[in-house]
Amino acid sequence: MSLVLVLNSGSSSIKYQLLSPEADGPQATGLVERIGQGSGRIRHEGPGGPVVQELDIADHEAGMRLVLDTFAEHGPQLDASTLTAVGHRVVQGGDLFTGPVRIDDDVVAQIDELSPLAPLHNPANLSGIHAARTAFPDVPHVAVFDTSFHQTMPPAAYTYALDRQVAAEHRIRRYGAHGTSHRYVSRAVAEFLGRDVAELNTIVLHLGNGASASAVRGGECIDTSMGMTPLAGLVMGTRTGDIDPAVLLHLARTAGYDTQALDDLLNRRSGMLGLAGHTDMRDVHAAVEAGDEDARTALDVYHHRIRGYVGQYMAHLGRVDAIVFTAGIGENDEVVRAGALAGLEHYGIVVDPERNAGRKKAPTVISPDGAAVTVLVVPTNEELEIARQAVEVVAA
Ligand code: ADP
Repeated sequence: MSLVLVLNSGSSSIKYQLLSPEADGPQATGLVERIGQGSGRIRHEGPGGPVVQELDIADHEAGMRLVLDTFAEHGPQLDASTLTAVGHRVVQGGDLFTGPVRIDDDVVAQIDELSPLAPLHNPANLSGIHAARTAFPDVPHVAVFDTSFHQTMPPAAYTYALDRQVAAEHRIRRYGAHGTSHRYVSRAVAEFLGRDVAELNTIVLHLGNGASASAVRGGECIDTSMGMTPLAGLVMGTRTGDIDPAVLLHLARTAGYDTQALDDLLNRRSGMLGLAGHTDMRDVHAAVEAGDEDARTALDVYHHRIRGYVGQYMAHLGRVDAIVFTAGIGENDEVVRAGALAGLEHYGIVVDPERNAGRKKAPTVISPDGAAVTVLVVPTNEELEIARQAVEVVAA
């Protein structure tokens, strides 16, 4: 049985899972937080249940050593000789990476070269890669990119109508995001329905704190809502999603916004937070129920945007077999699932209220029997997808 340590390194955190793609569920999960911030913390959940330790963690290498020490003390045993691979989530693969790759110094240099496209994420991912390569020098390390599933998009879908030379010089185009989730879910749907993925046209709605839609034809992405960066597309917890870019010019000219202020406004103070005062969809619903008109409008905007993308992707796909909800909101929020697809009955898209009710921990059909389009909820599992891809790369 293969065994993979999956790492998702942020600028001040390392999220990890130890799992075997052939087994059900991870052997251990954990999160190192507040790296380099004076008061760090690790939460590790292994065979003995959760353990938490608070201590200063200077950098990612110290964080990685802490992970290893915690495995040694609380289990399961993490022996380098039993690891098939370490799988790293990397946010931006640009147009350099169309699939997962084994990490060597050249790959590290290429991920670094793409940092201007993901200035917060790629450097953080590289810190994690460096720390893990130091900790496990003899184990294969594999990079799995959030963008690579979207590399099958045709030029018509990924090209912005921007001056061609400017775009080329600065690598400006649509790359997409959440690709690991879109890939996992679009394949899991085919498997669940007992259909060949090559014959299935699917719209995947990944609705978490970040949110994105994708159109998948025969297992290949043909369009997605995230753009050059994960700011485009659907309304998110704190991000605008699509907005007229001239709004930025307007704020710069008339209100003195500089790049930092615009970045902060668009990425951290907008979306559901900016509209309703809450990032968490549960809080938005509570506010709607309490009669808050702003929250009502925010939810309407959220649904309207999703419905618009569904319509767009129906047009691009021509025939839609399945629409799939996933991630925190997609898996748990029956109000959003029903609201986003309301009014599409004419197109054969119907959500059955009884089937839709409640949170879904396993693949579930929520459309009525015989509906032209099967609507489902499929829980995503990005760590499992990263582990699978890492094993495939090592085996190849
Ligand atoms: P991330 O993008 O951070 O990975 P997740 O996919 O974990 O996000 O989704 C987190 C979001 O899911 C929360 O911000 C919240 O809005 C939403 N969520 C979680 N549980 C529920 C629930 N029971 N009902 C509605 N929304 C939920």
